[in-house]
Amino acid sequence: MAQALSLTSPISHLPLVGPSFATRLEKLEIFTISDLLYHLPSRYDDFSLVVNVSSLQEGEIVTIRGKVKEMKNIFTKRGFTLQQAKVEDETGVVDVLWFNQRFLANSIKEGMEISLSGKVGRTGNKLQMESPIFEIPSQTGSLHTGRLVPIYPETAGISSKWLRSRISAALRLVSIVEYLDPDLLKREGLMALGEAFKKIHFPESLEEAARARERLAFDELLFSHLEATARKETWQKKTVGSKFEITKHQGALTKFVNNLPFSLTTAQKKVVDEIYGDLERETPMNRLLQGDVGSGKTVVAALAMLAAYLNSFQSVLMAPTEILAEQHYSTLQTLLKPLGIEVGIATGSKKDYEGYDMVVGTHALLSEKLNFKNLGLLIIDEQHRFGVNQRSKLAEKGNNPHILTMTATPIPRTVALTLYGDLDLSILDELPKKRQPITTWVVPPEKRDKAYQWIKEQKTQSFIVCPLIEESESESLQSVRSVKKEYDRLSQEVYPDLKLGLLHGRMSAKEKNTVLSEFKEGKLDILVTTPVVEVGIDIPTATIMVIEAAERFGLAQLHQLRGRVGRGEKKSYCLLFSEGNTQRLKNLERIHSGLELAEIDLRYRGPGQRFGEAQHGKWNLKVANFEDLSLVEKANEVAKEVYKDPQAFPLLHKRLKENTIHIAPN
Ligand code: ADP
Ligand code: MG
Repeated sequence: MAQALSLTSPISHLPLVGPSFATRLEKLEIFTISDLLYHLPSRYDDFSLVVNVSSLQEGEIVTIRGKVKEMKNIFTKRGFTLQQAKVEDETGVVDVLWFNQRFLANSIKEGMEISLSGKVGRTGNKLQMESPIFEIPSQTGSLHTGRLVPIYPETAGISSKWLRSRISAALRLVSIVEYLDPDLLKREGLMALGEAFKKIHFPESLEEAARARERLAFDELLFSHLEATARKETWQKKTVGSKFEITKHQGALTKFVNNLPFSLTTAQKKVVDEIYGDLERETPMNRLLQGDVGSGKTVVAALAMLAAYLNSFQSVLMAPTEILAEQHYSTLQTLLKPLGIEVGIATGSKKDYEGYDMVVGTHALLSEKLNFKNLGLLIIDEQHRFGVNQRSKLAEKGNNPHILTMTATPIPRTVALTLYGDLDLSILDELPKKRQPITTWVVPPEKRDKAYQWIKEQKTQSFIVCPLIEESESESLQSVRSVKKEYDRLSQEVYPDLKLGLLHGRMSAKEKNTVLSEFKEGKLDILVTTPVVEVGIDIPTATIMVIEAAERFGLAQLHQLRGRVGRGEKKSYCLLFSEGNTQRLKNLERIHSGLELAEIDLRYRGPGQRFGEAQHGKWNLKVANFEDLSLVEKANEVAKEVYKDPQAFPLLHKRLKENTIHIAPN
């Protein structure tokens, strides 16, 4: 056991962490000592009020310290056990009661000194401590009683009490070496690193905990930023196979634009210019195109692909789902057919890509079998759905191809600064004309029947979206079962005379396409679906979007769902059914900007609230909070100083160069 312990040591090297604890800890993503130290409290119980037995008051949460006078197990008739103790200090004796914790009698013995924290209750006219936390005083100080006590995210067999004891041991056994220069800490008013770890787990006050958290959050933001900068530097060393010519092909490009059934918005024109500017350079493009739902990203993608084609390069458009790939496929074919350009497709169920210069597809594009002779442009739709690996795997099929990623997920400024500093950002901040805002209502349970009636009277097409039961990316069987049940209920009880269709992620691509085409052709009145429709489906005749259990979604995600309607010229509506607190949802009645809604999401997303995670993907920082604009800016400033002059902070520079900073998350 005399193993030297460092931050990178596996967690099993910590005393009292055997293989079975190590396995349980994996569920909390704790593999190393550093992971353990970064397992931060979600809150603190305040047991800092220490009182004498004689001054106990009913209802208070307190700590008492005294000697155990009696400890016994009582077996009730119903098979429960009670643990009854008497604890005495200089001022008196108090009863203590636990329920069904028979093993306590093994640790709490008569005559021993003990510290108890918990609530003071009453039976008859006697006060008693009810199910308190107990601690046997030790030299290393108290962890569980008589102070602010950290409460952690737990898992089976790993309690907060256990975590406290192991984190405290780790803090004693590992030395945490500072990597930020003292001047910098002083200038920014930041706590030293070692202290920050001690105080975030075992603070004397909540302010101290907040300051500790601020230091750790600062590091996280700083390193995210520095990583993005490093990625950018690496990227800028690349050169493309050969440059694109745009001016030379201006005639053909203009002709394509003139033949569109609509004229481009000013925002679309601006973004296309930004993209063409990139394509003419030797450094490959690395651009993120953010545009609200319905802002018209697809035609921008088509224009970039056309430029590739005119320069004799192949291009690829990758979408996260088959439905979406199919839709892009038919859009591109319609747009490009007049120019005599044919488009290929590569999805799980359709493979027709040999000999095409433009190919649309899903993950199937990553297949080894699919090769390109001259891949010059890669476009990835809804980029947050793909991992970095998938992206680079696809890029390897070309010789440093240009990359354009597109997303409808609004990116708050703080997020853009911290995580996407390596990408150039283009924004489509304008919706095509003739679009009216989608009238949105939050519908409480008592108005549900009326709403169903109203929907029927509109004589239009509607989506009814049921949420996923679990928060996994792919749909669980349970979620599918629940959407099926809702479909049965709606078609039998609510709308027996209407035609309903069912769509969920576990259907085969063929089944999905059949239902979607029926809906598109107007053969169905209502499409009951899981949030698979979230991304990109374009069905202009549908004008009502109903979302069940809307409180389970993030606002930005609801906004994307709502964007499935309002695509034609007809007035569209969104009904948010909710049984929960509707205050947050009411924002959607008023606000029609995805970005604004995403900013509000950040504010609501306290620790432990997980909605919208799948959507935000990598946005979840461990410590920092993107709502904290001033801290983000502070970290951003320091990152810039480092970028300008790597030696600005010699200690940090040295540790970065040695690559010996093992504590920042990720
Ligand atoms: P998104 O940005 O959500 O991917 P799409 O590219 O699917 O949006 O476009 C939404 C709809 O708007 C499509 O039907 C498309 O043909 C149409 N559209 C795109 N640009 C314009 C425009 N400038 N004027 C009118 N309609 C447009
Ligand atoms: Mg789209």
